[in-house]
Amino acid sequence: MMPSIALVAHDLKKEALAAWAKRNERALARCALVSTGTTGAVVMETCPSLDIRRMKSGPLGGDQQIGALIAEGAIDALIFFPDPLTPMPHDVDVKALLRLTLVYDIPCAFNPRTADMLVAGGLLDG
Ligand code: PGA
Repeated sequence: MMPSIALVAHDLKKEALAAWAKRNERALARCALVSTGTTGAVVMETCPSLDIRRMKSGPLGGDQQIGALIAEGAIDALIFFPDPLTPMPHDVDVKALLRLTLVYDIPCAFNPRTADMLVAGGLLDG
């Protein structure tokens, strides 16, 4: 079955996520993709073949929407590139999202190298 992958990146990391998605565009095109609002827009601009279900922007509830999908069992992996050097107004939402990945044992990558390892481990193979 096609894996369902959630994509989230803070502003300074959106380019890195878009570059990772570009490298994996063909495989990602076979996945069900969901993202926070701005992240999805940036990734789709870089990877026009991808059809991403965009939730609200992170600070407006998008992280919580993705957390809810995790709680419903609708997400197989989270690719989330956070910015470690900038304080975020929605820090609590980020923490809640990460907590749910632990509760439901969801594979996560927080940087491109780990995301590459998940791909090498067959994450996108279906
Ligand atoms: P964004 O949200 O993709 O809408 O920028 C990401 C976040 O800040 O969690």
